[in-house]
Amino acid sequence: MDCIFCKIIAGDIPSRKLYEDDRVLAFYDISPMAKTHFLVVPKQHIASAQEITPDNSGIIAHIFEVIARLAAERGLADGYRVVTNVGDNGCQSVKHLHFHVLGGEKLSEKLA
Ligand code: AMP
Repeated sequence: MDCIFCKIIAGDIPSRKLYEDDRVLAFYDISPMAKTHFLVVPKQHIASAQEITPDNSGIIAHIFEVIARLAAERGLADGYRVVTNVGDNGCQSVKHLHFHVLGGEKLSEKLA
């Protein structure tokens, strides 16, 4: 499958990894939009949040547990933002579900 995040998960494309387990990978965004900006992705290819169903939704709880742990470890105690873009209107450029974690500084009050 021609998916850049699947290639990162497979190790075919390098990334700056923060965390990995059998279900998720977290790595720094190549083009950071905040002082700290990393991505958390399921290893299973799910195209976007629009593809979440009762069969695969368990991964979302796990991803948010990982985000909370990484945020604590990476000094984001003053707060951070979690974003997932969906589809063309949501400006999703990589069609593999991912959560942006942005922080390390005061973020814009504007969400869109
Ligand atoms: P989105 O626009 O929400 O689909 O976000 C995709 C994100 O993936 C963007 O913030 C990109 O900077 C990031 N990205 C794309 N390719 C890579 C890569 N090879 N390593 C790390 N981040 C990447």
